Amino acid sequence: MKGIRVHKTGGPEVLGHEEMPLPVPGPKDVLIKIEASGVNFIDIYFRTGLYWAPLPFTPGHEGAGVVEAIGSEVKGVKAGEAVAYAGAMGSYAEYAAVPEAKVVKLPPGVDCRTGAAVMLQGMTAHYLSHSAYPIKPGDTALVHAAAGGVGHLLIQMAKKRGARVIGTVSTEEKADLARGYGADEVILYIRSDFFSEVRRLTEGRGVQVVYDSVGLTTFEGSLDCLAPRGYLILFGQSSGPVPPLDPQLLSTKGSLFLTRPTLWHYVATNQELRARAGDVLDWVASGALRLRIGGTFPLSESAEAHRRLESRGTTGKLLMIP
Ligand code: NDP
Repeated sequence: MKGIRVHKTGGPEVLGHEEMPLPVPGPKDVLIKIEASGVNFIDIYFRTGLYWAPLPFTPGHEGAGVVEAIGSEVKGVKAGEAVAYAGAMGSYAEYAAVPEAKVVKLPPGVDCRTGAAVMLQGMTAHYLSHSAYPIKPGDTALVHAAAGGVGHLLIQMAKKRGARVIGTVSTEEKADLARGYGADEVILYIRSDFFSEVRRLTEGRGVQVVYDSVGLTTFEGSLDCLAPRGYLILFGQSSGPVPPLDPQLLSTKGSLFLTRPTLWHYVATNQELRARAGDVLDWVASGALRLRIGGTFPLSESAEAHRRLESRGTTGKLLMIP
């Protein structure tokens, strides 16, 4: 089979499109013929070496396709069924062997491309809005990178839970998109100081929660946007990692809460994974959650997909098709 392999970490050029052996499923694994792989920022972190994996590795944490074969202990899925997953590395390939515990069946009305596009970012938006800080009706939430993969789903979930949503984006086109997904206000954070704008829009009160995936360039301003006892959910670092901070700062800025969560701890049990994935896939099937696929690339062009994501040139989700 063909797949992407990284032999040394670095720029997009290290994503080599190669002939590789077909993975052999273990007793608890499902062998999936991948129809689409999701492209995520986490794939960039592994490619550059910011996050560690033993070399060589096949990137990609998300995919969907048809079950080709199952291990001897697999009970929940069978050959020929359409499934999706997130959280097992190696989806940038024609086939992947994935633990059954990570795999969900796609419901009627959700095709493989949609499944691959929504699993990781959809479950992320779900845990951010429902668990890391469970949004209450009447809250105001600030969502950075609001037209991005997680961003456009998070706006919709925050609205569904009754929040007023303020989004930040870098361009007018992205601002229109964020409004289209339900953002009440949108700030172009490369043109104006988003902290002052948030204070103006909330008449000085600040917001109850900031969802910050941008990191280095937004972190300090995000703290300054919060109402007393507000929550900063720092869940990414698209602009670079945040330097260490003195916890005393959280006290002086209003007895604030700071967490740096990761999806894997919010789908740690099979029950939680199935509940979150079930909600997300049902909402997509019913049309309650709208998904934007902002670009598709052949697997052989994964380097170009990474370049686009890194350069802020994307909206919604990027997919790769083997
Ligand atoms: P996005 O589609 O959101 O793409 C990143 C966006 O970040 C860009 O489009 C851009 O939006 C914004 N951005 C701001 N500054 C920069 C910069 N210097 N370089 C690049 N982008 C920048 O990506 P994803 O939805 O895949 O992921 C968003 C973030 O969420 C990532 O940091 C990712 O690691 C994190 N994440 C974390 C998870 C967790 O559980 N902790 C799970 C899933 C994702 P604009 O042009 O509008 O500024």
